[in-house]
Amino acid sequence: MRTVTVVGASLAGLYAARALRGQGFDGRLVVVGAEPHRPYDRPPLSKDFLTGKADEEQLALCDEEESAELDAEWLLGMPAQGLDPQGRAVLLADGRTLTTDGVVIATGAGPRMLPGPAYAGVHVLRTLGNARALRTELANGPRQIVVIGGGFIGAETASSCAALGHDVTVIEAAPLPLVPQLGADMAAFCAGLHQRGGVRLICGTGVAALHAGRTVTGSGGSAHDRAVTGVELTDGRLLAADLVIVGIGAHPQTRWLSGSSLALDAIDGGVICDDGCVTALPQVVAVGDVAKVGGIRAEHWTSATEQPAVAVRNLLAGRTTETLRTVPYFWSDQYGARIQFAGHRQDGDTVEIAEGSLAEGSFLARYERAGHTVAVLAVDRPRPFLRARRALRDPATDHPELSDPRSIRGPSGVHPRPSGHACDS
Ligand SMILES: Cc1cc2nc3c(=O)[nH]c(=O)nc-3n(C[C@H](O)[C@H](O)[C@H](O)COP(=O)(O)OP(=O)(O)OC[C@H]3O[C@@H](n4cnc5c(N)ncnc54)[C@H](O)[C@@H]3O)c2cc1C
Repeated sequence: MRTVTVVGASLAGLYAARALRGQGFDGRLVVVGAEPHRPYDRPPLSKDFLTGKADEEQLALCDEEESAELDAEWLLGMPAQGLDPQGRAVLLADGRTLTTDGVVIATGAGPRMLPGPAYAGVHVLRTLGNARALRTELANGPRQIVVIGGGFIGAETASSCAALGHDVTVIEAAPLPLVPQLGADMAAFCAGLHQRGGVRLICGTGVAALHAGRTVTGSGGSAHDRAVTGVELTDGRLLAADLVIVGIGAHPQTRWLSGSSLALDAIDGGVICDDGCVTALPQVVAVGDVAKVGGIRAEHWTSATEQPAVAVRNLLAGRTTETLRTVPYFWSDQYGARIQFAGHRQDGDTVEIAEGSLAEGSFLARYERAGHTVAVLAVDRPRPFLRARRALRDPATDHPELSDPRSIRGPSGVHPRPSGHACDS
């Protein structure tokens, strides 16, 4: 291969560029990025960057020195607009066409939006630009904030806003947030963290409409928007709000692939790849949040860093020679607690506490299926979690820390919950 084009200049794209050079690719390397920035880290955007504990320099994933070593052409602020059906040319927004021998798709995911008009004071949190705008608003004195969506981004953002002293309510349409990721028992524990952080959590009701009032001058000084004043719930309640943060999930950024011959998953829209990150075209691989790898699309930092080495090996080989053997892992920081999860959970798995307790707010839990541990969750137990995660990757090794579990079912068979109700009614 003489030219490889990486589309998406963020975490997975950077790791792909590193892997290409690390695996000996010495041809022309082009990195195309829609954002104007060099790769930066997103997890702090909802955590330390929002609270002001981290600044923009600390988000950078690659310094000038590494950038020079990679010897890549960075086309930033330049979205790709198309991929030809053979995967041999990338069309750029300025009309140029990049002829290429190989393509790494690393375009990530974009935030889902609420339908309806855009009002001032309504935010999403995906990019540095989003985070800058939200941070500026949070610095303008106490606000009444409604966070729509109780998933990880919503919960972390609510936690950061509460830590800054704002009045925060989280709305979750499901009966409990995070059930698909953690199962009902552990999700109930996490829902209790909102209460611990002084945040109201309202579950089981959706958003009917946003209300807006006075006309304000937009940030550009020209556009005039109406500013949000409240959130009307599907149960009829109206919550006053002068700031709304929408955290209702993300969708793979694949619009630019519409003229290509690549298949997208019918349910979540990810680029379908085999378990070596190779698409239907051997010279095109996909990595990170955009990729559906072997039937799984993970929106996790660690997946975006683990997939590129395998993808690039297969790209350079021209076929799948290696498959991913990793165990999905993510973490989340909320209300002073570090949540870590690894493995593949399914409905019907039993959950047992291997160490600590829910009452202490610090524990290691394991998910079991047919007598095997299939996933582990820890809250503020980083070292035992590390060992348990290793055990998942290498089940043949004896791991005594996962023995002698205590069932989370109490003597009466009732699951203990953190004190108080997880959700306000
Ligand atoms: C606020 C926030 C907090 C998070 N916290 C955690 C956490 O605590 N733990 C965890 O495990 N994960 C966390 N994540 C998830 C993690 O950051 C993502 O999994 C990771 O960023 C995925 O990397 P990626 O490179 O695949 O995609 P992205 O980081 O989304 O990058 C994709 C890039 O491609 C660009 N792009 C899109 N379309 C085009 C186009 N047509 N042409 C060119 N470029 C394009 C985008 O602009 C973007 O820069 C968090 C994410 C967010 C947003």
